[in-house]
Amino acid sequence: MKILIINCGSSSIKASIIDHQSGERSGDLKVQRLGEEGCTLEINGKSEALTATNHQDALAIAIPKLLENFEGELAAVGHRVVHGGEQFQKPTIIDDEVEKVIESLFKVAPLHNPPNLAGIRAAKKLLSCPHIAVFDTAFHSTLPKRAKTYAIDTEIANDLGLRRYGFHGVSHAYVSKVAAAHMESDRRDLRIITCHLGNGCSVAAVEYGRSIETSMGMTPLEGLVMGTRSGDIDPGIILELFRSGKTVDEVDEILNRRSGLSGLSGIGNDLRDIEERASEGDENCRLAIQVFAHRVRKYIGAYAAAMGGVDAIVFTAGIGENSVMMRHRIAQRLDFLGAVFWEDHNRDVSLSAENPVAEISTRNSRCRLLVVKTDEEKQIAIESAKLVLEMNTTKGDLEIPVAVSARHVHLTQETVEALFGEGYQLTERNPLSQPNQFACNETVSIVGPKRTLENVRILGPTRPKNQVEISRTDEFFLGIDAPVRASGDVDNSPGCTLIGTDGRRIELKQGVICAWRHIHMQPEDAEKFGVQDRDVVEIAIQSNGRKLTFGDVLVRVKSSYKLEMHIDTDEGNAAELARGGAQGVLVNVEGLASMRTRLTKHDQV
Ligand code: AMP
Repeated sequence: MKILIINCGSSSIKASIIDHQSGERSGDLKVQRLGEEGCTLEINGKSEALTATNHQDALAIAIPKLLENFEGELAAVGHRVVHGGEQFQKPTIIDDEVEKVIESLFKVAPLHNPPNLAGIRAAKKLLSCPHIAVFDTAFHSTLPKRAKTYAIDTEIANDLGLRRYGFHGVSHAYVSKVAAAHMESDRRDLRIITCHLGNGCSVAAVEYGRSIETSMGMTPLEGLVMGTRSGDIDPGIILELFRSGKTVDEVDEILNRRSGLSGLSGIGNDLRDIEERASEGDENCRLAIQVFAHRVRKYIGAYAAAMGGVDAIVFTAGIGENSVMMRHRIAQRLDFLGAVFWEDHNRDVSLSAENPVAEISTRNSRCRLLVVKTDEEKQIAIESAKLVLEMNTTKGDLEIPVAVSARHVHLTQETVEALFGEGYQLTERNPLSQPNQFACNETVSIVGPKRTLENVRILGPTRPKNQVEISRTDEFFLGIDAPVRASGDVDNSPGCTLIGTDGRRIELKQGVICAWRHIHMQPEDAEKFGVQDRDVVEIAIQSNGRKLTFGDVLVRVKSSYKLEMHIDTDEGNAAELARGGAQGVLVNVEGLASMRTRLTKHDQV
């Protein structure tokens, strides 16, 4: 599928026609110095002067020229939009309503959303195929509350919409996926720290395929030291700047344009020049490099802690892909994370479209250090193509039974014996809807730091790992901070104490989770719904209770399963489900694509 990708900045436009599978370009254009003197248009490498003062005029001239030599058919136009706010958590077809929302977000992204929307409006006048917005914030829509909440007065934060959004999502999504493919693994089995180090810089913690922390915040100003932006500073400094008599615009200018590498080095924001001057002994340039690297290392350590470990650390973008020295400064002495840096390989990195990944860790390094060539345009093409395919798939006419699971535990045979005596076998009370699963006569008490939950049912048969599934309400009751996880995915989760009969106790080192709401289905069901194992979907609940659509529902496909969605008691109560459960219909496939089979291996989403 050929997609035209358009990326409009305030004084620049970039556009490329891309094949979403191969990433091959069949044409590209660049407009520079738009609205300034000496505006130029470069089409497929050939530059000419351009008489245009705004995005509409520029695109009206540039797009027909770009399409002159293009013989295929455009399936869609994918527009990069920096800020999607709370409203857009995935690629979206742009209609008038969507345009209005993008406009309403001008106040939170004043530098980016206005030119993005100008480009959209201009392109819609020129091309009649579907126009799709792909948001830089969307990949971070999975941030948990603890990561997106700023610890300031809740009322003020809510009134003004002060929260972390995160940016560079398109790049973090792309490089984490390419890194996982390089490791011959699935992103959903890995904890990856992605470092996008370009002129703008950000780090993301991608835990099992989902962004759970990122360094940019409500605006792209927070986090790492960047080309011209300060990144993290004590908020008291901002107050001090105001007290010194500076205006809002002046402070904005200082933090966004006169800080970062540029502010520290005093010679501009290009790291190549700064490295050169540092090697000649310039102290300001040396300090700029040290502060930059130190900040990235600090974030890597923090994000490894947030995820309870890390399997790969990825460097990307202008600095990450090209600066041997900066990678060295950041990646050395990370052995405590299991990441052993290999200097020779670091020096030899040379990325290209054919070789987009280089390894800079030693062979015995448990955590891999990777350099990955980012390709945001290709990621926008992949996401746009996915939406086009989904629009052509009918959904919603197949019903899914929904069942509410009360808190329960799955135990290993060893734990059963520790709780009920040597050689003890669980006994069946009643069968469950999933084949060969049963509720046992036996129950346990779950002891948390705060309180104890008694009479918690054990489900059989025994399993290779202990798993204690509780609701969010139970978590607070017990005082345990349980992560939302798919069944079986208990590594690095918190533990608890279980008490069986006769007061026998066992301390579990891990295993307490809040089950990720999920649907069990057979391969034939998956085909009918157009989904695959571990896709994430939206399900609209049809019950006599409160109408509710659940996002973030995990699909589990196995031939031994029976079609059924499982939610916990909190979720069931939220939809006021009767005891007998309800029916749900699949309304959307979100996040991780349903079209993996149609992509080549390298492109797997
Ligand atoms: P980006 O925003 O991803 O295009 O990155 C642009 C930045 O990457 C430039 O401002 C430079 O600071 C940096 N950069 C590009 N190439 C090199 C290089 N060979 N060595 C050091 N820094 C580089």
